[in-house]
Amino acid sequence: MNFVADRMLGKLAKQLRMLGYDTIYYRGEEAYRLIKLAREEGRVILTRNTKLLPRTPEDRIVRITEDRPSLQIRELIQKGYISLSEDNLLSRCLLCNVLLDDIPREEAEGKVPDFIFYQQKEFYQCPQCLRIYWQGSHQENMLKRIEQLKNFGQAPNVKPCT
Ligand SMILES: [Zn+2]
Repeated sequence: MNFVADRMLGKLAKQLRMLGYDTIYYRGEEAYRLIKLAREEGRVILTRNTKLLPRTPEDRIVRITEDRPSLQIRELIQKGYISLSEDNLLSRCLLCNVLLDDIPREEAEGKVPDFIFYQQKEFYQCPQCLRIYWQGSHQENMLKRIEQLKNFGQAPNVKPCT
């Protein structure tokens, strides 16, 4: 499933790319352009705008109700739009949304910090912005956070002792 996130959901767009989902971030304000873009490219619209409604039965619009990006990810999982697969992590540039290439380890030498180069076995590169990626801790942290969200469901409503 491919997405277009509206201007309120830039962080969610990055997280979706991190999970491997093709996600465009539309910064504009014109609803008709957002819908046109989604139609032309067969994308599901992610929005926080309660006034944005489908204009034809083909328009797919998902209204995001959560505030925090990690909860928004959970919301999309619960609504059945995305699923988590470790295989898809690190497949897409977080900035350009294009698929990353595997590159030979030697090619990363000198282009990433030395300690990263010696620590990591695999590197990937964005063919568009040439940014180099590796299995960073933020991906692992994100996976952990999502696992927690899945396991515990709603956060318990704990009242502080007085
Ligand atoms: Zn890039």
